[in-house]
Amino acid sequence: MPVERTYIMLKPDCIKRKLIGRVIKRIESKGYNISNIKMMNLDEKILTEHYAHLVDKPFFPSIVEYMTSGPVVGMIVEGENAVKGMRILMGATKFEEATAGTIRGDFATSTSENIIHGSDSSENGEIEIKRFFGENA
Ligand code: UDP
Ligand code: MG
Repeated sequence: MPVERTYIMLKPDCIKRKLIGRVIKRIESKGYNISNIKMMNLDEKILTEHYAHLVDKPFFPSIVEYMTSGPVVGMIVEGENAVKGMRILMGATKFEEATAGTIRGDFATSTSENIIHGSDSSENGEIEIKRFFGENA
């Protein structure tokens, strides 16, 4: 299996609740390598690009409000099948479907405030890595 890269982002609720260490520990324990990491504050422009598939949803303004409510931690995570593997580690988007033992299953408090983002395909992973870490990342 080829080594794959995915863009992982710890969302503002993760930072506010002091869960950065516990979530990163799960990622590293699974054997993935964090090749870059930074804390940043997002604005509406980058969120409109990142969540382009959701801009027409009624809850889009609340996503922007939540994602700009504090800093996030962006990471490039590498490993075999890292995109799919990280999605499994994260758990389902829907709060009620995120199973115990997954990051969202154990820590998320709702479908919107759900601790972590992970790319949904290898292609999107590369796009998101460039969006948040620059063209040469
Ligand atoms: N989201 C939400 N309500 C929904 C669906 C999504 O608030 O009904 C938020 C949630 O924070 C989610 C993000 O929008 O993580 C992106 O949604 P997506 O469908 O891409 O889910 P993900 O890839 O994060 O699992
Ligand atoms: Mg998504």
